Amino acid sequence: MSATLSGRELAAQIRAEVAERAAGLTAAGPQPRLAVVTATADPASAWYVRTLARAADKAGIACDITDLAPAEPDRPGSQDATVESIRVALIALSENPLIHGIVLQTPLPGGARLADLAGDLDPAKDVDGANPVSLGRLMTGLPAFAPATAEAVLALLDFHQVALSGRRAVVVGRSAVVGKPAAQLLLARDATVTVCHSRTVDLAAVTSTAEVLVVAAGRAGLIGPAFVAPGAVVVDVGTNATADGGLAGDVDPAVAEVAGALSPVPGGVGPVTTAVLLRHVVAAASPSRS
Ligand code: NAD
Repeated sequence: MSATLSGRELAAQIRAEVAERAAGLTAAGPQPRLAVVTATADPASAWYVRTLARAADKAGIACDITDLAPAEPDRPGSQDATVESIRVALIALSENPLIHGIVLQTPLPGGARLADLAGDLDPAKDVDGANPVSLGRLMTGLPAFAPATAEAVLALLDFHQVALSGRRAVVVGRSAVVGKPAAQLLLARDATVTVCHSRTVDLAAVTSTAEVLVVAAGRAGLIGPAFVAPGAVVVDVGTNATADGGLAGDVDPAVAEVAGALSPVPGGVGPVTTAVLLRHVVAAASPSRS
């Protein structure tokens, strides 16, 4: 059986550090403040926003939620009006000196692209690394907030002392939120990185070359034992709702019999992602950044 790359202990450690820094910032004033903008009535997104708001509160970070979901999404023109209201909100929050971090929550109303709208976010407050400027800075090795999930993958690997330099890493998924930035962060740590996606031919042939395999496809059970080299370290980013109301990863649990280590879902990358996002908020609120 493989080792379990749990994220719970690491998440608790990061949250404790964040709470200490938030208390210090609040004492000097003002309190660190996160703004979350949502624009659809998606239940999974609503659940995540509630979890984030609770975690922020516990860490001493204020969290304002701006809900722009239209009352009648099917009415002609409603989606366009919502997209415009998102732009207006992001610009106002970016200019508001009491707001330190801003998250634009996905999914967005029909057809709107995160990379397009997130361009209106002040990169200094872009705590989930969504603005193309943040991603460009990440790509070129300049300081920037990385997307929290991608940074959480690296934090989890570091916490469990997984060596990266010179190792063959494969990332499944090429979204701007997870796959591409995770690949970039692995590259910055001197791994030799291959990125797979929905058009990759013979996925198993590529993933089974990985010493470190990161899976972020959003397809429950996509990666079975035949996709994994014996002893490989596997990080499962996928979160897929199951029929019984639970959560399943992209990696078949049977992979535990082949892999050297595997992150669980839930309890792996997820809790670390929230903690990393809050760490970004206190960093954005710290005087040295302003
Ligand atoms: P996405 O839909 O934007 O991207 C999925 C990627 O997977 C695409 O690049 C696609 O090409 C690739 N893909 C899809 N099917 C594939 C297949 N059969 N073979 C190979 N590649 C395939 O999703 P995302 O936003 O990147 O999220 C990926 C997963 O990570 C989802 O399950 C999401 O819920 C989860 N997620 C988890 C966290 C967390 O904190 N744990 C945070 C963000 C996203």
